[in-house]
Amino acid sequence: MRYKFCEQLKNCIFFDSSCVVHCCNCGHDRDTIIIDDYKGEKIDWKKLIKDKLKIQENAKKGIIPYNSCKNCYMWREDVWNEGGYISEIIISSWTTCNCNCFYCYTAADKDFYNNFKTYDIYRVLKDFQKSKLINFKKDNGGIVRLLGGDVGTLKDFDKIVNLFLEEGAEHFYIPTSAVKYLPIVEKVLKEGKAEVIVSPDSSNRELYKKIKRIDAYEQVKQNMKKYANAAANTKSTFISKFIIIPYINDSKEEIDNWLKECKEIGVTNVAYDIEDNFTIKFSQKIPKKIPELFDYLERRGKEENMKVTRFRFAYQLLFDLENGTAKYSENESDFIEQKKFMEKFRKEYCL
Ligand code: SF4
Ligand code: SF4
Repeated sequence: MRYKFCEQLKNCIFFDSSCVVHCCNCGHDRDTIIIDDYKGEKIDWKKLIKDKLKIQENAKKGIIPYNSCKNCYMWREDVWNEGGYISEIIISSWTTCNCNCFYCYTAADKDFYNNFKTYDIYRVLKDFQKSKLINFKKDNGGIVRLLGGDVGTLKDFDKIVNLFLEEGAEHFYIPTSAVKYLPIVEKVLKEGKAEVIVSPDSSNRELYKKIKRIDAYEQVKQNMKKYANAAANTKSTFISKFIIIPYINDSKEEIDNWLKECKEIGVTNVAYDIEDNFTIKFSQKIPKKIPELFDYLERRGKEENMKVTRFRFAYQLLFDLENGTAKYSENESDFIEQKKFMEKFRKEYCL
């Protein structure tokens, strides 16, 4: 039977810093809620799975469960398998980070997020493991995504990775600032089970400092080299990502320079995305230059024999532009306003 549904509603659980939700695509609203105001309490895993199965039954009748799903590219028609289990686990329970990107939500109050005491995620996961409702094997080895602050600051990171390896996870998705080199990341890369992503968004120390607001370009570059090495000749991928940030790094020249650095580091997988605070704020005034830069980056990456991946905010923007929920602007005064906003945003997180 074909019907519209979503793989994250089906098999995914997302541990946020103060709630448990179905997915990571529900924007800042976090409305695909499973448990609100979560502080590490014991979870009734069987009930959680039962609720997911109910959502799947409703989807067969065309019922969309959450507002966020209404305009989400993940809500799509397919033939969906049956059975209640979890094969995708997203951990975003911690907010500490050794980097300071101006576009990160933590920039709103860096001290607060760097000192935020979160619940003991390892204890929660140990309890989940006992329920036997994690089943990575059912979905080709499943996936574990570590999306919080930086994994270099996550308490029990090594123990968490080892727990999931024990459970048979075959894919680990690990974005990292790469400010700190982590042997456990090297281990999963060498085992062919990791997709590790670093997002320098720049090709030189000065621009890196402007965006990341720390002075660590060379150190990050050296760590990227080591990770790229560990991934070579395995099933793992090491990716350098470029988030196109309008009015900050949005030039063909900067994209070319970044690709040159990728080559020097030994990176053969690259990715791009768009800064989402900008596209949300200016959804009705998107400069045409943005999708043009997507095309340029894809073409140039391929010319350099690199595999190029588009990330989700870029997907969502193209989806919105196509269905009319986002619109282009060709008005010079809009661009002046946007440029001013981005400079201010970079300095004082003024959303
Ligand atoms: S359809 Fe989109 S918003 Fe809804 S649960 Fe799936 S990923 Fe999340
Ligand atoms: S590396 Fe990630 S978590 Fe850290 S400040 Fe940048 S965007 Fe935020």
